[in-house]
Amino acid sequence: MIDSHAHLDDARFDSDRDDVLQRARNAGVRTILTIGNGNGPDQMGCGIPIAENHDWIYTSVGVHPHDASKVEEHHYTQMQELSRHAKVVAIGETGLDYHYDNSPREVQREVFRKQVALAKKLDLPVIVHTREADAETEAILLEEKAGRGVIHCFTSGDRLADFALSIGFLISFSGIVTFPNAAPLADIARRIPLDRILVETDCPYLAPVPHRGKRNEPAFVTETTRFIAALREMAPEELAGQVGVNFERLFALKTA
Ligand SMILES: [Zn+2]
Ligand SMILES: [Zn+2]
Repeated sequence: MIDSHAHLDDARFDSDRDDVLQRARNAGVRTILTIGNGNGPDQMGCGIPIAENHDWIYTSVGVHPHDASKVEEHHYTQMQELSRHAKVVAIGETGLDYHYDNSPREVQREVFRKQVALAKKLDLPVIVHTREADAETEAILLEEKAGRGVIHCFTSGDRLADFALSIGFLISFSGIVTFPNAAPLADIARRIPLDRILVETDCPYLAPVPHRGKRNEPAFVTETTRFIAALREMAPEELAGQVGVNFERLFALKTA
Protein backbone atom coordinates (compact mmCIF):
# COMPACT_ATOMS: atom_id res chain seq x y z
CA MET A 1 0.00 0.00 0.00
CA ILE A 2 1.01 3.60 -0.59
CA ASP A 3 0.37 6.70 1.50
CA SER A 4 0.52 9.34 -1.22
CA HIS A 5 0.25 12.32 1.15
CA ALA A 6 1.50 12.57 4.74
CA HIS A 7 2.95 15.34 6.90
CA LEU A 8 5.60 13.32 8.72
CA ASP A 9 7.45 16.50 9.74
CA ASP A 10 4.49 17.50 11.95
CA ALA A 11 5.40 18.11 15.59
CA ARG A 12 2.74 15.61 16.64
CA PHE A 13 5.13 12.89 15.39
CA ASP A 14 8.19 14.22 17.21
CA SER A 15 7.93 11.88 20.17
CA ASP A 16 7.39 8.62 18.23
CA ARG A 17 8.15 9.13 14.52
CA ASP A 18 10.22 5.93 14.28
CA ASP A 19 7.42 3.88 15.84
CA VAL A 20 4.90 5.45 13.47
CA LEU A 21 7.04 4.45 10.48
CA GLN A 22 7.55 0.94 11.84
CA ARG A 23 3.78 0.52 12.27
CA ALA A 24 3.32 1.66 8.66
CA ARG A 25 5.81 -1.00 7.47
CA ASN A 26 4.09 -3.65 9.59
CA ALA A 27 0.73 -2.67 8.10
CA GLY A 28 2.07 -3.19 4.57
CA VAL A 29 2.78 0.41 3.58
CA ARG A 30 5.71 0.29 1.15
CA THR A 31 5.96 3.96 0.13
CA ILE A 32 5.09 7.32 1.70
CA LEU A 33 5.20 10.75 0.12
CA THR A 34 5.80 13.25 2.92
CA ILE A 35 4.80 16.78 2.01
CA GLY A 36 7.36 19.58 2.15
CA ASN A 37 5.32 22.50 3.47
CA GLY A 38 6.31 22.71 7.13
CA ASN A 39 4.86 25.73 8.90
CA GLY A 40 5.61 28.03 6.02
CA PRO A 41 7.93 28.68 3.08
CA ASP A 42 11.07 28.85 5.21
CA GLN A 43 10.51 25.16 6.04
CA MET A 44 9.71 23.80 2.59
CA GLY A 45 12.72 21.46 2.78
CA CYS A 46 11.31 19.79 5.93
CA GLY A 47 10.68 16.43 4.26
CA ILE A 48 14.17 16.03 2.83
CA PRO A 49 15.94 14.76 5.98
CA ILE A 50 13.14 12.22 6.53
CA ALA A 51 13.32 11.03 2.91
CA GLU A 52 17.12 10.84 3.08
CA ASN A 53 16.91 8.53 6.08
CA HIS A 54 14.41 6.11 4.53
CA ASP A 55 14.76 4.71 1.02
CA TRP A 56 10.97 4.08 0.86
CA ILE A 57 9.97 7.69 1.63
CA TYR A 58 9.85 10.54 -0.92
CA THR A 59 9.05 14.20 -0.47
CA SER A 60 7.90 17.38 -2.19
CA VAL A 61 8.59 21.10 -1.85
CA GLY A 62 5.97 23.81 -1.92
CA VAL A 63 3.90 26.41 -0.14
CA HIS A 64 0.47 25.62 1.29
CA PRO A 65 -2.26 28.18 0.52
CA HIS A 66 -2.52 28.92 4.25
CA ASP A 67 1.04 30.28 4.08
CA ALA A 68 0.82 32.08 0.75
CA SER A 69 1.14 35.52 2.35
CA LYS A 70 4.58 34.58 3.75
CA VAL A 71 6.11 33.97 0.32
CA GLU A 72 8.92 36.19 -0.95
CA GLU A 73 10.53 36.01 -4.35
CA HIS A 74 13.59 34.10 -3.08
CA HIS A 75 11.36 31.21 -2.01
CA TYR A 76 10.72 30.32 -5.66
CA THR A 77 14.46 30.15 -6.28
CA GLN A 78 14.82 27.96 -3.21
CA MET A 79 11.96 25.74 -4.35
CA GLN A 80 13.69 25.24 -7.67
CA GLU A 81 17.01 24.42 -6.01
CA LEU A 82 15.49 21.98 -3.52
CA SER A 83 13.53 20.28 -6.30
CA ARG A 84 16.81 19.01 -7.76
CA HIS A 85 17.26 16.72 -4.75
CA ALA A 86 16.86 13.07 -5.79
CA LYS A 87 14.10 12.41 -3.24
CA VAL A 88 12.00 15.46 -4.18
CA VAL A 89 9.40 14.19 -6.64
CA ALA A 90 6.74 16.94 -6.75
CA ILE A 91 5.85 20.57 -6.17
CA GLY A 92 3.23 21.12 -3.47
CA GLU A 93 1.03 20.98 -1.81
CA THR A 94 -0.16 24.27 -3.23
CA GLY A 95 -3.60 25.53 -4.11
CA LEU A 96 -6.51 27.57 -2.82
CA ASP A 97 -8.26 27.34 0.53
CA TYR A 98 -11.25 29.67 0.66
CA HIS A 99 -12.64 27.90 3.71
CA TYR A 100 -10.00 29.12 6.15
CA ASP A 101 -8.80 32.13 4.11
CA ASN A 102 -5.58 32.23 6.14
CA SER A 103 -4.00 34.24 3.32
CA PRO A 104 -5.80 36.79 1.12
CA ARG A 105 -7.38 35.08 -1.87
CA GLU A 106 -5.56 37.11 -4.48
CA VAL A 107 -2.24 36.18 -2.85
CA GLN A 108 -3.26 32.51 -2.72
CA ARG A 109 -4.06 32.65 -6.43
CA GLU A 110 -0.75 34.22 -7.38
CA VAL A 111 1.31 31.80 -5.26
CA PHE A 112 -0.65 28.82 -6.60
CA ARG A 113 -0.29 29.99 -10.19
CA LYS A 114 3.47 30.40 -9.85
CA GLN A 115 3.90 26.92 -8.36
CA VAL A 116 1.80 25.33 -11.12
CA ALA A 117 4.00 27.09 -13.68
CA LEU A 118 7.21 26.12 -11.87
CA ALA A 119 6.16 22.46 -11.66
CA LYS A 120 5.50 22.49 -15.38
CA LYS A 121 8.83 24.09 -16.14
CA LEU A 122 10.65 21.53 -13.95
CA ASP A 123 8.58 18.66 -15.41
CA LEU A 124 7.41 17.69 -11.92
CA PRO A 125 3.85 16.82 -10.90
CA VAL A 126 1.94 19.35 -8.81
CA ILE A 127 0.02 18.36 -5.65
CA VAL A 128 -3.11 20.51 -5.44
CA HIS A 129 -5.06 21.39 -2.30
CA THR A 130 -8.43 22.99 -3.01
CA ARG A 131 -11.23 23.87 -0.63
CA GLU A 132 -14.34 25.87 -1.55
CA ALA A 133 -12.47 27.22 -4.55
CA ASP A 134 -13.31 24.78 -7.35
CA ALA A 135 -13.93 27.32 -10.12
CA GLU A 136 -10.76 29.28 -9.53
CA THR A 137 -8.65 26.15 -9.09
CA GLU A 138 -9.95 24.96 -12.43
CA ALA A 139 -9.27 28.32 -14.09
CA ILE A 140 -5.67 28.50 -12.89
CA LEU A 141 -4.87 24.90 -13.88
CA LEU A 142 -6.30 25.62 -17.33
CA GLU A 143 -4.66 29.01 -17.80
CA GLU A 144 -1.26 27.68 -16.75
CA LYS A 145 -1.74 24.57 -18.91
CA ALA A 146 -0.83 22.43 -15.91
CA GLY A 147 1.25 19.36 -16.60
CA ARG A 148 0.95 16.24 -14.44
CA GLY A 149 -0.71 16.42 -11.05
CA VAL A 150 -3.11 15.24 -8.40
CA ILE A 151 -5.97 16.83 -6.50
CA HIS A 152 -5.17 15.65 -3.01
CA CYS A 153 -7.67 14.92 -0.23
CA PHE A 154 -10.43 15.26 -2.77
CA THR A 155 -13.66 16.58 -1.23
CA SER A 156 -15.21 18.41 -4.19
CA GLY A 157 -18.02 17.25 -6.43
CA ASP A 158 -18.47 15.59 -9.78
CA ARG A 159 -17.64 18.70 -11.75
CA LEU A 160 -14.12 19.15 -10.38
CA ALA A 161 -13.55 15.39 -10.53
CA ASP A 162 -14.44 15.32 -14.22
CA PHE A 163 -12.32 18.39 -14.88
CA ALA A 164 -9.32 16.80 -13.13
CA LEU A 165 -9.73 13.64 -15.18
CA SER A 166 -10.05 15.69 -18.39
CA ILE A 167 -6.64 17.30 -17.89
CA GLY A 168 -5.00 13.97 -17.02
CA PHE A 169 -4.82 14.54 -13.25
CA LEU A 170 -5.19 11.89 -10.59
CA ILE A 171 -7.58 12.12 -7.64
CA SER A 172 -6.40 11.20 -4.17
CA PHE A 173 -8.82 10.08 -1.47
CA SER A 174 -8.20 10.54 2.24
CA GLY A 175 -10.05 9.05 5.23
CA ILE A 176 -12.89 11.50 4.58
CA VAL A 177 -14.26 9.03 2.01
CA THR A 178 -14.90 6.58 4.87
CA PHE A 179 -17.08 9.02 6.82
CA PRO A 180 -20.78 8.08 6.88
CA ASN A 181 -21.86 11.49 5.52
CA ALA A 182 -19.54 11.30 2.51
CA ALA A 183 -21.77 9.32 0.15
CA PRO A 184 -21.31 11.67 -2.87
CA LEU A 185 -17.54 11.38 -2.45
CA ALA A 186 -17.79 7.59 -2.22
CA ASP A 187 -19.70 7.66 -5.51
CA ILE A 188 -16.77 9.45 -7.15
CA ALA A 189 -14.30 6.94 -5.67
CA ARG A 190 -16.49 4.18 -7.09
CA ARG A 191 -16.86 5.53 -10.62
CA ILE A 192 -13.58 7.12 -11.71
CA PRO A 193 -11.10 5.07 -13.75
CA LEU A 194 -8.91 2.77 -11.69
CA ASP A 195 -5.75 4.22 -13.21
CA ARG A 196 -6.54 7.70 -11.79
CA ILE A 197 -6.88 6.83 -8.10
CA LEU A 198 -4.46 7.55 -5.28
CA VAL A 199 -5.01 6.96 -1.56
CA GLU A 200 -3.58 9.04 1.26
CA THR A 201 -3.83 9.76 4.96
CA ASP A 202 -3.00 13.51 5.03
CA CYS A 203 -1.82 12.58 8.52
CA PRO A 204 -1.73 13.77 11.26
CA TYR A 205 -5.15 15.10 10.17
CA LEU A 206 -8.32 13.28 9.11
CA ALA A 207 -8.05 9.77 10.52
CA PRO A 208 -10.37 7.33 8.72
CA VAL A 209 -13.07 5.29 10.39
CA PRO A 210 -12.52 3.46 12.84
CA HIS A 211 -9.77 5.81 14.06
CA ARG A 212 -11.73 9.00 13.46
CA GLY A 213 -10.86 11.77 15.91
CA LYS A 214 -7.46 10.34 16.80
CA ARG A 215 -4.08 11.40 15.42
CA ASN A 216 -3.83 9.93 11.95
CA GLU A 217 -0.75 8.03 10.76
CA PRO A 218 0.37 6.26 7.56
CA ALA A 219 -0.62 2.76 8.79
CA PHE A 220 -4.25 3.90 8.64
CA VAL A 221 -4.10 4.21 4.85
CA THR A 222 -4.97 0.51 4.93
CA GLU A 223 -8.48 1.39 6.18
CA THR A 224 -9.11 3.84 3.35
CA THR A 225 -7.68 1.46 0.77
CA ARG A 226 -9.92 -1.35 2.04
CA PHE A 227 -12.95 0.96 2.05
CA ILE A 228 -12.46 2.05 -1.58
CA ALA A 229 -11.75 -1.52 -2.67
CA ALA A 230 -15.05 -2.60 -1.10
CA LEU A 231 -16.88 0.22 -2.91
CA ARG A 232 -15.43 -1.03 -6.18
CA GLU A 233 -16.04 -4.66 -5.33
CA MET A 234 -12.43 -5.61 -5.73
CA ALA A 235 -9.79 -7.13 -3.47
CA PRO A 236 -7.81 -4.59 -1.39
CA GLU A 237 -4.56 -6.11 -2.75
CA GLU A 238 -5.72 -5.51 -6.29
CA LEU A 239 -6.57 -1.86 -5.61
CA ALA A 240 -3.31 -1.38 -3.70
CA GLY A 241 -1.36 -2.81 -6.63
CA GLN A 242 -3.01 -0.43 -9.09
CA VAL A 243 -2.54 2.56 -6.77
CA GLY A 244 1.14 1.64 -6.61
CA VAL A 245 1.38 1.69 -10.40
CA ASN A 246 -0.47 5.04 -10.51
CA PHE A 247 1.81 6.52 -7.88
CA GLU A 248 4.98 5.43 -9.64
CA ARG A 249 3.72 6.75 -12.96
CA LEU A 250 2.69 10.17 -11.61
CA PHE A 251 5.88 10.74 -9.63
CA ALA A 252 8.08 9.08 -12.27
CA LEU A 253 9.62 6.64 -9.79
CA LYS A 254 11.45 3.51 -10.61
CA THR A 255 9.60 0.58 -9.04
CA ALA A 256 10.32 0.71 -5.30
ZN1 LIG B 1 -4.14 19.78 1.81
ZN1 LIG C 1 -1.63 17.91 3.30
